[in-house]
Amino acid sequence: MKKRDIFYTEEMINMYEDVYDLCIVGAGMFGSAAARHASTNPGLKACLIGPTEPSADEGKEREIFSSHYDEGRIVHVIDENLPHTVLSKHTISRFRELEKLSGIKFYNPVGFLLTTEKDSKDAINLLQKLLSHDIAFSDLSDGDVFKKRFPYLQMSDCDCRILDDNGAGYVSARRLVEAQKKVARLQGCEMIEDIVREVKDLREGVHQVITEKNGIIRAQRVLISAGAFTNYISLQPIGKVKMVVNQETVAMLRLSEKESEILRSMPTITYMKIKDDFPNLLNGVYILPPMQYPDGHYYLKAGRNGINSTEPNLKEVNEWYNSHGDLEIVNQLSCLLRQLLPNTNFEAVSSKTCLTCHNETGLPYIDRVTPTVTVAVVGNGVGAMTSDEVGRIAAELSLNGKWDSELPKNLFEAVLE
Ligand SMILES: Cc1cc2nc3c(=O)[nH]c(=O)nc-3n(C[C@H](O)[C@H](O)[C@H](O)COP(=O)(O)OP(=O)(O)OC[C@H]3O[C@@H](n4cnc5c(N)ncnc54)[C@H](O)[C@@H]3O)c2cc1C
Repeated sequence: MKKRDIFYTEEMINMYEDVYDLCIVGAGMFGSAAARHASTNPGLKACLIGPTEPSADEGKEREIFSSHYDEGRIVHVIDENLPHTVLSKHTISRFRELEKLSGIKFYNPVGFLLTTEKDSKDAINLLQKLLSHDIAFSDLSDGDVFKKRFPYLQMSDCDCRILDDNGAGYVSARRLVEAQKKVARLQGCEMIEDIVREVKDLREGVHQVITEKNGIIRAQRVLISAGAFTNYISLQPIGKVKMVVNQETVAMLRLSEKESEILRSMPTITYMKIKDDFPNLLNGVYILPPMQYPDGHYYLKAGRNGINSTEPNLKEVNEWYNSHGDLEIVNQLSCLLRQLLPNTNFEAVSSKTCLTCHNETGLPYIDRVTPTVTVAVVGNGVGAMTSDEVGRIAAELSLNGKWDSELPKNLFEAVLE
């Protein structure tokens, strides 16, 4: 955070004289889900603190952004990482209910296609895991089903093509968070639009949460869910969380509404590996089908897998979010998409930037690190598809101290620095 002194008058301190039972810091994918689940208890006094998305002009001044200011996030159940499978299965299973409760549509189960080299170690490992854990999939590697179903996709006959057609697809990240927040608010959770600068140690049974605009908020329990921005808050009770921050660039290929209509049945796609022609994309790429963005245009989006750890400071975060990102990556993604969709006419190419955060296990930290402070952080680039279940487990852990999941608790232990 910028070093400015904040002085609070007695009046401001008393503004939130009431003590919250639970204060959730970070109104993103995990925090908003936790707020919804926690606030199903009508006796609970809870609040969710976080800034709203900045406009283009406001973004020039901002230090704290988020990883969900976007339309498309892939969701799928088939995964090499089995705990992801469990978390995303539960998350996806609640999307329709959340749409109904909120009245906000965000979920598009168009299917998910995972491709890797046929008969490679990766392919064999993946197929073995899916079969041994009874995870539903269709193998479209051979025969003509693939070409009939997706005639516009030009893939190599050497590709192993696994289709997850059981609820997989994509969500609008913005609208999913909006839906979670709306239901949480209707259930009584207070929404506080602000940025937290510091969470102080427990004193006389309460934590003081120091905000930029709303003075000091007092709470008996705190849940930290500030994503890639967590370590920019001074978290007195726990210090820093061990994670790597990754600067992500995505390519946005614009196409007409008519072209996007032709690709209406296109699934979301992950290529586990890419051949040497695209040296910046060797760890694989993800692709989302065309969707309409807030500027009214249709875009097909792609990004690369893998992490380039850079640990930006807040000034660099601001510069990154206001930049075009790595243009060589954009160029290679754009060439790859033109090969994959040779008959599609793209009108323009642009880019977007974002941050993700990662750790060694590839699983989020969901952990009660003190009796009154819980963390739900580190999305590992797949936090959207696991978000509702992560939020639910974190809310239960933070309020009742109970680990409520069929997955072992120790997989999610936080590593602090
Ligand atoms: C380009 C891109 C593509 C992605 N694609 C996918 C995908 O296809 N599928 C998928 O599952 N995942 C995807 N992800 C990852 C996914 O978006 C993240 O894992 C997910 O958003 C993590 O949720 P979170 O709640 O931890 O963080 P966030 O969603 O970033 O939420 C954190 C919130 O905390 C707030 N905050 C931070 N600091 C403070 C503070 N000091 N005070 C108050 N509030 C604060 C932020 O403003 C933000 O709203 C992608 C991410 C990016 C960037």
